[in-house]
Amino acid sequence: MQNKMNLLKDLQEIDQEISSIEATRQGYQDELANFEADASKVLEMIDQLNDEVAVLRQSEAELQQDLLKEKDNVVRVEARLPEIQTQKEYVAVLKEIDVAKKSNKETDEQMVAKMQEVVVLEGDLEEKNSELEAIKEKAEARGAELEELLSESEAVLLKRTETRESVAAELPVSLLRKYHTLFKRRGGLALALAKSGACMGCNMQLPPQQYNRLLQVAEIQTCPHCNRILYVETEV
Ligand SMILES: [Zn+2]
Repeated sequence: MQNKMNLLKDLQEIDQEISSIEATRQGYQDELANFEADASKVLEMIDQLNDEVAVLRQSEAELQQDLLKEKDNVVRVEARLPEIQTQKEYVAVLKEIDVAKKSNKETDEQMVAKMQEVVVLEGDLEEKNSELEAIKEKAEARGAELEELLSESEAVLLKRTETRESVAAELPVSLLRKYHTLFKRRGGLALALAKSGACMGCNMQLPPQQYNRLLQVAEIQTCPHCNRILYVETEV
């Protein structure tokens, strides 16, 4: 009985250590995942900016083509001027030229506006690219550290798990199952010390008769309040 209790105590100690190693490892893995999430967020923004720049450049090119065509037109119409016979036609053609030039000026202004937008977006792109670079650098340096920590802790975890298995193998299956369930449900504390007539797991008083039986260390007992397996401190 005392032997079983000691094995259970060992088991709980190892399991608590395993839980803490696993939590630490989860932390490392979360940190690694965060780098990836951060990088892909910035990458997404870069893609979006590139798309916007491409659209702007496309419409800038279209405007440029329009402008060249219209300028050709103006040259062609202007070339016709000396051949014009009537005053009325002359005025009409001059007006046509004037309208075309105004429109070309507008097109030119639109092009300049698009180019200015491109310049702004390219500034944003540069900023995002260096942001991405910084994340990558940090991820590389810290990532190597994290990978090392992960592999170190994996080795420790493996050793602890082996020890755990050998301790568990010495315990009856039903007791082990009970312990397991409690360990999970009671936040990693399946065993509780009974002291001065109370359960130290839930701080509730135990029935005096039960406490007396516990002191005899004759059987496995559980707390009627929190269901934890109770043990008493025995003098060495
Ligand atoms: Zn209790």
